[in-house]
Amino acid sequence: MKKCSWKKAASLCVVPCVALSLAVFASACDNKNEKVAAAQTSDVVAKKFDQVTKISGKTFGTFYYVTVPGGYPGGEDTLRSDAEFVFKKVSDAISTFDQNAEIARFNAYESTKDFVISGYLADVLEQVQRQSLRIEHSMDPTVGPLVNLWGFGPNGEVHQSPSQAEIDETLAYVGIDKITIRRVGSGGVLQKLDPRVKLDLSTIGEGLAADELAQLLDEKGINNYMIAIAGAIRSKGANPDGKLWRVGIEDPVSQGQKVFAAVCPQGMAISTAGSYRNFFIDEKTGTFYSHIIDPKTGYPINHRTVSVSVIARSALETDALDTGLLVQGAKAAVEWGNKTETPVYAIEVDEQGKEVATYSRAFTPYLKCVLNLSISPVPQDK
Ligand code: ADP
Ligand code: MG
Repeated sequence: MKKCSWKKAASLCVVPCVALSLAVFASACDNKNEKVAAAQTSDVVAKKFDQVTKISGKTFGTFYYVTVPGGYPGGEDTLRSDAEFVFKKVSDAISTFDQNAEIARFNAYESTKDFVISGYLADVLEQVQRQSLRIEHSMDPTVGPLVNLWGFGPNGEVHQSPSQAEIDETLAYVGIDKITIRRVGSGGVLQKLDPRVKLDLSTIGEGLAADELAQLLDEKGINNYMIAIAGAIRSKGANPDGKLWRVGIEDPVSQGQKVFAAVCPQGMAISTAGSYRNFFIDEKTGTFYSHIIDPKTGYPINHRTVSVSVIARSALETDALDTGLLVQGAKAAVEWGNKTETPVYAIEVDEQGKEVATYSRAFTPYLKCVLNLSISPVPQDK
């Protein structure tokens, strides 16, 4: 039996069926899943592929996997250079660690005067703003100064939590209303309303890169692929066995590699945000602080919701929503999913340490192709 390969962040692993934080199960996970797949004729959508091109590596401090059943023109080397081209394009726009990236330069620009940006970055920021608005800004790209204050940004780690006074002072320049974006010709202009404003688009980086690579593969006429960048996955067509791709939502409590629930994304993007892989423990108080920060309170989340997965057309959308819905917690996240007909799946840990899943109505069809995974999630509002 093959194990999922885990990425740093929450959630997906590509399993030999294909798994999500996602973990991607790329083919047939284990014996049990094999039996399920065999019993489901609808699972088979193509003939088994003789040739498969696969690459994996590190990007944005995390892992990526790309699988192309049927083979990629030019093979592994071309696929790798195409993937690296996309990763560079995304990093050049949004990295906060590479001082030459557009966002890093904007962050270093301590002025309220206009700052010229590329049309590409302006597009991305407008999309992120739109998603942020949908979920009452619980995902907010201006969270950067709080991310730094809590030691998860380019300023390096901290070992103790900041004081309330520091948090209050930082909150004064966090908020989507603290920047304006204007389109100018084919480019854009950003303006800070307070010179201390800093943007952080890390949470959508993986989704954006997955979308960009999916678009490149689509343009090359590739009909079967799986792209997994940490917790963000885009897939299309069939897996190497000619079956629907499956993605595993990672078990947040076990020490990695266990799939909590499997999903057939059926051509849609899926991503998962988790609070359990990147955190620090205050050395004085022993308190656990996650890297997911509530932009309204200025504190890392500390509720019992440990992961939220979202399915939508683009991985940028899912990657923006999953983080914000994780901030809101399982109940609000699933309610929002039901209200907006969005597939949302949340995992909480109850007082006994048991994981409890709830999901919105729109998530149900994506679970149906994988009927028997080890844990039966508890549906809400059925
Ligand atoms: P995950 O896969 O767990 O969602 P990501 O790396 O995609 O993790 O996103 C987490 C990062 O997003 C944090 O390290 C921080 O830089 C940033 N972030 C934290 N809280 C928020 C928030 N409320 N809105 C936007 N970005 C956030
Ligand atoms: Mg996210």
